[in-house]
Amino acid sequence: MLAVHIDATPLERLGALLEPDRAERLRRNAVRARSVIGSRTVWNVNATATGGGVAEMLQALLAYGRGAGIDTRWLVLDGTPEFFALTKRIHNLLHGSPGDGGPLGEAERALYDAVLAENLESLREVVQPGDLVLLHDPQTAGLVEGVLATGAHVAWRCHVGRDDSNEQTDLAWSFLQPYVAPAHALIFSRKTYAPSWVDPELLWLIPPSLDPFTAKNAELPTADVQATLRHAGLVGFPEDHGSLAFLRRDGEPGVVRRHEGLIAGGQEVPHDARVVLQVSRWDRLKDMQGVLTGFVEHVDRLPDDAHLMLVGPDVSGVGDDPEGAEVLAECLAVWERLPVATRRRVHLCSLPMDDIDENAHLVNALQRHATVVVQKSLVEGFGLTVTEPMWKARPVLASRIGGIQDQIEDGESGLLLADPSDLDAFAGLLGTLLTDPEMSVRLGTAARSRVKDRYLGDRHLIQYVDLFEALTS
Ligand code: UDP
Repeated sequence: MLAVHIDATPLERLGALLEPDRAERLRRNAVRARSVIGSRTVWNVNATATGGGVAEMLQALLAYGRGAGIDTRWLVLDGTPEFFALTKRIHNLLHGSPGDGGPLGEAERALYDAVLAENLESLREVVQPGDLVLLHDPQTAGLVEGVLATGAHVAWRCHVGRDDSNEQTDLAWSFLQPYVAPAHALIFSRKTYAPSWVDPELLWLIPPSLDPFTAKNAELPTADVQATLRHAGLVGFPEDHGSLAFLRRDGEPGVVRRHEGLIAGGQEVPHDARVVLQVSRWDRLKDMQGVLTGFVEHVDRLPDDAHLMLVGPDVSGVGDDPEGAEVLAECLAVWERLPVATRRRVHLCSLPMDDIDENAHLVNALQRHATVVVQKSLVEGFGLTVTEPMWKARPVLASRIGGIQDQIEDGESGLLLADPSDLDAFAGLLGTLLTDPEMSVRLGTAARSRVKDRYLGDRHLIQYVDLFEALTS
């Protein structure tokens, strides 16, 4: 297992952004956390240190945990490509989709058990009785029983799910239930994601949160946005006067490198184009291809200066997501068949993952530069890619599904697409946002307030303290 380094971030940094009452509540809860947790260690185990929402959140939250004086640790599983292909299948099934269509039988269970048995050996060496262990997502479910045997308190947190069940979700849960049912707590982002067999006494609802101070979300002047996007070869500003600096998670300064070839399909975006942006992993359920098709099939209804950017991580950089290369290739194939004039308005970008702070800074600059941000997922556990642009006061158009419905109140803090497969309606709403700047400003302003009210780390951390208190009492 890989131990991910966590730097301590003082809670005061978050507190400074909050109203005095709310900052005081956070301070009081830090005291409570120290008294509840004492000398125990809080372990987090997941499948990747980079790429995707879980890693994004752990990076920020665990640093605040350390800043509050809690011994917080993060371990990443060792797995084989076959193991990650299997866990991606389970992930897709939990979302109600067949994924690669492969089986979930005895052979798969044997593979799953064998990989986790090796990981459990490493965990057993470090976890002490009384410690708190948070296991994240299907990749770690098979560790529950072994970690319980160490005498630790064990919670399993599922970050994925869908509102209704179907044959696929039933299949996934029949695989996972024997592993996770014995845990002391089962955590979901929405109530509808919890299968009916979950004991209500063990059920915790904890939605994700965003950290306003990471390179992904930190304030960024327009001049720096432009300098960054120009230097990275993403947007063709003829000149720039901004800084290329950003702050790394360890507090050290970073500088954007000069990049070439980040646009896998298309050219640099013209500096005067209005950008419609979707940032996602290259996962079929994010429906990058549907966004592309919806944009190009209705391009005549959209203003001439509207360009589409589909942005995802370099596909070799997200170890637990074997589907990425295929999805990017499918999008590129569609892009290559477009008429030249349309093709010029679509840009497929792969952001380097070898420096995740720089990657986060590039996403920050892109989200701030975008005129409209979309998230046309077919299924979505929560969707930090919705929270992030909302925090940046961007107008967001996203599917009315999963956790996105909790974030956006339709017409108030963004627009919801009732049927994510309705490309005609998608283009219509996009056209509305691109032609009504006043509406965009109104939605963006309300979006930022909503994130501040509900989706910052203080709420999330306090929910964890409640959980730890319940587990240890
Ligand atoms: N992300 C990123 N670089 C990319 C693509 C995505 O940093 O090239 C981030 C994105 O900004 C967000 C996370 O990955 O923080 C995705 O989280 P989300 O909850 O939207 O979806 P998940 O990937 O967990 O399904």
